[in-house]
Amino acid sequence: MEASRAPSKGEFICVTCPNGCPIEAEYIREPGKPGTLLSFTGNKCPKGEAWVRQEIENPMRTIATSIPVTGGSFLNTSVRTKSAVPLGEVFEVMKAVRATPPLQAPVKIGQVVLRAAGVDVIATRNVAKI
Ligand code: SF4
Repeated sequence: MEASRAPSKGEFICVTCPNGCPIEAEYIREPGKPGTLLSFTGNKCPKGEAWVRQEIENPMRTIATSIPVTGGSFLNTSVRTKSAVPLGEVFEVMKAVRATPPLQAPVKIGQVVLRAAGVDVIATRNVAKI
């Protein structure tokens, strides 16, 4: 029979709006399994519950970084994932970004520069051709 893990407690700052409510949560996390939210307090609205539940059960992150550009008015462009990716896939996305050869100018904001872990990575800075 498998021993069950003791619940953990932690404080999570809700980032859904500028209030930044501190939410105290009790949860169980086991390696290789989705976490389980047991209880929470401190949120001022229902969005806080949704946020802390996702943070425990399926944490997601939007990744922002940069990629080199050749032949342009800047040496690189900032990029970000078009949507959040599961925390466990951040390394895969970063590996794909690092393996991407320099982009050729011009680069336009919103241009898809690569796709990794099922999400588009888009440019967030214009780089004119020179
Ligand atoms: S719990 Fe509600 S009020 Fe508080 S930060 Fe989150 S969204 Fe804003």
